[in-house]
Amino acid sequence: MATTSPSEYDAVVVGAGWAGMYMLYRLRQMGLATRVYEAGDGVGGVWHWNRYPGARTDGEWMWYSYSFSAELEQEWSWSERFPAQPELERYANHVADRFDLRRDIQLSTRVVGADFDESNGRWRVRTEHGELVTASYLVAAAGALSAANVPELKGLEAFTGECYHTSRWPREPVELAGKRVGVVGTGSSGVQCIPVIATEAAHLVVFQRTANFSVPAWNVPTDPAFEREYKADYAGHRRRQRDSAIGVYWSHANLEQSALEVPPAERTAAFEHAWRHGPFTLMNSYNDLSANLEANETLSEFVRAKVREIVRDPDVAELLVPTTHPIGAKRLCIDTGYYETFNRDNVTLVDVRSTPIEEITAHGVRTGGAEYELDVIVLATGFDAMTGALERIGLRGRSGRSLSEKWAEGPRTYLGLSTAGFPNLFMLMGPGSPSVLGNNFEAIEQQVEWVSGCIAFMRANGIELVEATVEAEDRWVDHVRELADRTLFNLADNWFNGRNIPGKKGGFTPYAGGYGAYRKECDEVAARGYAGFTFVPPPRSGVVRS
Ligand code: NAP
Repeated sequence: MATTSPSEYDAVVVGAGWAGMYMLYRLRQMGLATRVYEAGDGVGGVWHWNRYPGARTDGEWMWYSYSFSAELEQEWSWSERFPAQPELERYANHVADRFDLRRDIQLSTRVVGADFDESNGRWRVRTEHGELVTASYLVAAAGALSAANVPELKGLEAFTGECYHTSRWPREPVELAGKRVGVVGTGSSGVQCIPVIATEAAHLVVFQRTANFSVPAWNVPTDPAFEREYKADYAGHRRRQRDSAIGVYWSHANLEQSALEVPPAERTAAFEHAWRHGPFTLMNSYNDLSANLEANETLSEFVRAKVREIVRDPDVAELLVPTTHPIGAKRLCIDTGYYETFNRDNVTLVDVRSTPIEEITAHGVRTGGAEYELDVIVLATGFDAMTGALERIGLRGRSGRSLSEKWAEGPRTYLGLSTAGFPNLFMLMGPGSPSVLGNNFEAIEQQVEWVSGCIAFMRANGIELVEATVEAEDRWVDHVRELADRTLFNLADNWFNGRNIPGKKGGFTPYAGGYGAYRKECDEVAARGYAGFTFVPPPRSGVVRS
């Protein structure tokens, strides 16, 4: 399909993170003229933006990396088990160069609106620089965790010191030495930056609203012998991860036993062993820790005891002990020296659940009764997750209806990939897909390949438009809800269910049935001629497989 002018593309992709880059690679392989718009001034998505001190992946390199190119897998070496942000950003740049992606990626360009033009079946896409382009297909790869949540704290704009959200950390080094720093938030971002900031700042005040469960990463440099051995069967490892529940395969996961079936001493010994072998081993010590509250409580108690053991001041320890939710109901944090940080003389923990932040003053933070003078405030306050970045694109589908209007009561998708009323729009890592509940790379590659397959099918059959039916979407939304009800996720306020954002509606949005089951479901939909979708024009009876 040739383009007739530079502003008419076959496909526009929003975002040049892991998903957007791989989508471009695949669409280009299929011969589609594709333009990628990226708001940041570099590629890499979250690993471009999240450059706060201590930022590193919670995924081990063996599986938190692309699998689509065996050459890439073999030639790239990761220096640590859990690579840090600079290395991940280098990897993103390497991929962009190695596959010559840059010529189709326009950086520093935010998409500010995209309307479906019913007169010609094309998307009209507007950028912040006033460009207007059209495309047959629009792929939203804007990220599940990219729309920063800056809480409405009274007086924030009046603060005379420096203030940074962790996901908008400047590229230039931020000087913290000798300064009084306050961190608001103790989710994964806070848990990673707090130990590092504590070693640099003169004094650190941590403002904690909810104590979170965190387990040690045990990060280590990559052992060359292990790397050689692992890479010798990379394809085998990838195959095994593909059908697993969260896109990661552990030979040591105990999928046979309930935590309640074993005597307490044996269980504690198993948790102790797992605690020393890494975060994922712990949650997979038994098969019911994520689904059965009583089983979960055994592990929650084990980790609470660890907090009390590590933190010397018993009052501080009690504040850090998570009591509001089961372990894993908020996304489990993975740390390096988090609880130990509170044994330092230059660190103060402030409980803003019992004494909420009243105001940000010109010189610091005031909570009930006390004012903390600060030079720097770090907002580790998370994201308007899953839907925030999609809604901020400014999408309008049939009859000019905006995505935000359609999703006012919560997101509605079919397979997390498509939403009725928005033909030829594909979402990657969208609500209703399992994406955020496991290995992002695994989810991204599966979704990109499914979308590529659908587009190839359309092109092979002379189809111009694809759209989810309302019935299929309704069934999928109900299915996602039923699966969520079997988990413990709704026993916490978290970004999965939107309860981290005041007033946000919709409930738990990821598909909790597991990666393997989701892949099977998507494959079956495709095999049944894209059941649940309508095509214009409808495929001829003897459909051509792509
Ligand atoms: P988060 O988990 O949503 O944590 C935000 C924190 O800010 C929470 O402690 C929250 O308290 C607090 N907060 C928000 N508004 C507040 C307010 N007005 N006053 C006081 N406290 C407030 O966000 P995150 O830490 O950025 O992590 C989000 C997700 O990003 C993670 O779960 C993870 O999936 C991903 N992430 C991954 C990595 C990695 O792979 N290494 C690193 C960072 C982030 P409440 O709990 O009380 O709401």
